[in-house]
Amino acid sequence: MKLDVNALRYLSKDDFRVLTAVEMGMRNHEIVPAELVDRIAGLKHGGTYKVLKNLLKHKLVHHDSSKYDGFRLTYLGYDFLAIKTLVNRGVFSAVGRQIGVGKESDIFEVATEDGTIMAMKLHRLGRISFRAVKSKRDYLMHRSSYNWLYLSRLAALKEYAFMKALGEHGFPVPEAVDCNRHCVIMSLVQGYPLVQVKELGNPDEVFDTIINLVVRLAEHGLIHCDFNEFNIMIDDEEKVTMIDFPQMVSVSHRNAKMYFDRDVDCIFKFFRKRFNLSLEEDNHDDEGSGSETEESHRPSFSSIAKSTGFLDKQLAASGFTRKDQDDIEKFIEGGEEQNTVSSDGEELPENEQHHNDPISTELYSLQLANQETLSINHAMGDATEELQQNLDN
Ligand code: ADP
Ligand code: MG
Repeated sequence: MKLDVNALRYLSKDDFRVLTAVEMGMRNHEIVPAELVDRIAGLKHGGTYKVLKNLLKHKLVHHDSSKYDGFRLTYLGYDFLAIKTLVNRGVFSAVGRQIGVGKESDIFEVATEDGTIMAMKLHRLGRISFRAVKSKRDYLMHRSSYNWLYLSRLAALKEYAFMKALGEHGFPVPEAVDCNRHCVIMSLVQGYPLVQVKELGNPDEVFDTIINLVVRLAEHGLIHCDFNEFNIMIDDEEKVTMIDFPQMVSVSHRNAKMYFDRDVDCIFKFFRKRFNLSLEEDNHDDEGSGSETEESHRPSFSSIAKSTGFLDKQLAASGFTRKDQDDIEKFIEGGEEQNTVSSDGEELPENEQHHNDPISTELYSLQLANQETLSINHAMGDATEELQQNLDN
């Protein structure tokens, strides 16, 4: 999705006030009645309705009058709220080109005042899996705030918490800088996703490093669950960095062994094919298969000493709870389905559709959108967070 932050400059205090009011209304409405937006925003002389028109023009909200006159945030509207909050916090001051399109995210460069470039990942968890969301409705019925805002926020919080904890334990991950709503700010990784690398000086060494990462993660009680050539970055010195953590699970998960083996398989397959490493064929630690005396590089899940406390203790400290983990797991296990229909069954506007090809290099390859770095005006009025606090009172 194109993220034209230019409009940010022209949005007034009132615009943000009303946008925040729509966000707040979405805690218990998929479509927020216009009167409710007006009541929350509390602008004088019917000002809310004029502002809503402006927000609609900039595609920050979507108008829905099928059941009643109401509005919901668009991804862009949610992006703007997160970006504005982070800019007000002084985390960065400019948004630049798009550097990645993931399955369920968009990644942009952002810059601080002194020119430091970082990566901003905007989670779009509902984007692909709206049908999965529907099938999970029963389970989540009691949860009024349940919608793509909630899921994307949860994914961001989880990613941030894992990145921080993993970094503190010496894993090669981007530095977790900050997090707001569905948005994670992290250090920019130099290099490329492994999938784009055609040649390596020391493929054996890189392979060992990567397999050791899977093992070390398991020793810490964790499985990446999407450990493959798209989520491993490599630089010119062949230094490895792993990314993309919203789907990680604990080694105590009931399907842990399957996830672990799948991660290992991905790496084996890729290195065999791309770099012609002679690695033995499938040889999982299934009962009765193969002999232990045969030297095998393939790590076996059952022989790894695991510490299961990591997930709960480390992550709870970052505000990501066991319950959050359960919620997001239930959703992610719903599988990924491609579609262009929103959670309330309507066709999504073109700019919110995501065409999810089967894992293709194209989808994951750097998307160098030809965008000039656009600076965000600092003097945009008071912080969204402050406003939210005011509104809460
Ligand atoms: P998704 O969960 O949608 O797959 P990823 O976190 O894997 O998202 O990011 C998608 C792509 O964006 C990556 O393959 C990579 O090219 C790029 N990317 C993500 N994070 C960074 C980063 N910190 N630095 C540089 N590029 C990144
Ligand atoms: Mg990824």
